Amino acid sequence: MPLIVQKYGGTSVGTPERIRNVARKLLETQRAGNDVVAVISAMGGVTDDLLKLAKEISQKPTERELDLLLATGEQSAIALTAMAINALGGRAISLTGAAAGIVTDNFHTRAKIANITPRQIHALLADDYIVVVAGFQGQTPQGEITTLGRGGSDLTAIALAAALQADACQIFTDVDGVFTCDPKVVPDASKMDEIAYDELLEMAGAGSKVMQSRAVEFAKKFGVGFEVRSSLKDTAGTVAKEETPNMEDVVVRGVSVDCNQAKITICGVPDRPGCAGIIFSAISAANLSVDMIVQNASITGTTDLSFTLHKDDFDLAEKILAPLVPKIGAAGMTAKSGVAKLSVVGIGMRSHSGVASRLFQCLGEADVNIQLISTSEIKIAVVIDESEVDRAARATHAAFGLSRPVTLPSAPAR
Ligand code: ADP
Ligand code: ASP
Ligand code: MG
Repeated sequence: MPLIVQKYGGTSVGTPERIRNVARKLLETQRAGNDVVAVISAMGGVTDDLLKLAKEISQKPTERELDLLLATGEQSAIALTAMAINALGGRAISLTGAAAGIVTDNFHTRAKIANITPRQIHALLADDYIVVVAGFQGQTPQGEITTLGRGGSDLTAIALAAALQADACQIFTDVDGVFTCDPKVVPDASKMDEIAYDELLEMAGAGSKVMQSRAVEFAKKFGVGFEVRSSLKDTAGTVAKEETPNMEDVVVRGVSVDCNQAKITICGVPDRPGCAGIIFSAISAANLSVDMIVQNASITGTTDLSFTLHKDDFDLAEKILAPLVPKIGAAGMTAKSGVAKLSVVGIGMRSHSGVASRLFQCLGEADVNIQLISTSEIKIAVVIDESEVDRAARATHAAFGLSRPVTLPSAPAR
């Protein structure tokens, strides 16, 4: 019998009526002749509320306790979903991540899945159960509860689909699929029928939260094909897969925006070996991740070094760097929150020129100032003022004709 893994996100199980809707969909899938494993997120807003509660109790809650707390969100949701299926005359059972055999490393709040032993899931499927698994959580080999980072139910679903060798993996959410830009930012964004793992990975990393980037990375590594689709409509979604030759014809697949950014510039850094090492060792020792790093060429014997990081890490980074700036002989530091990153992504950039110039020209015409630029093989990202990001995204989306594919002359370089 075919085995299908279906994941339902927070909004899809946000109310009792929506949970009943999910229960009906799971039952329909089973009655169509499939074994069904459901992965369920906490009801919409619950994880944020639990985090807020923890912050009210403690400025810096211990991560072990945070995981114990956050895991309750998914635990409530799976029990309610299984109850809803049973109430409709079905046969369902809920399992925590630990009971489902999901073993992780010891990094609380951002644990990585080490292995999955889905023995119990197989036994329950053989007994005709719909197996409802808690997303976002696992257990260390020592039996400690862990969570997999925000959006981690996507990773649970992909990893279970790989471990169970599922015939299909469907990620049900509150939009119809992966769009050319967040439809909440660009209302005329269009749904894509397919997307290459690498493109979705770059879009997720650039702020498109429709899929967790670690989940996409896992899918690419283990070749798990999946579909992102609506839990509220019965329409085809977006299929994520290894790239095919014709995918390169589309130069820019999508535009991503990330408003959770802050920017720090250290000015007048002496142009000698070791300075960048000192700065970023201090940042990494505090377990902070940086995103873009941009350094100017030195003409006068000093350079300016800028980088971006998550705005929640901004205060701590500033505090750590303030005493280091005079120590390395730099002239000063400017720190700015209220910035955003806008990225254009597409594997077609490898073989087409003109993307950077079109982006910069479009932002110039929209009177949007670019503060930093960085590129990868299939992405160009700029940092701009947060207040301008929606306008910039709409202008960029239009400039690349994203409702219809745009062609540019072929050339090896950008
Ligand atoms: P879930 O709770 O189902 O996991 P999320 O809120 O994590 O859902 O992700 C879905 C949301 O992602 C959408 O409501 C949408 O606003 C946002 N989003 C951002 N970028 C995109 C994009 N390119 N395509 C589709 N949705 C996007
Ligand atoms: N509930 C978790 C979160 O809000 C996991 C998820 O929704 O995927 O991040
Ligand atoms: Mg999500």
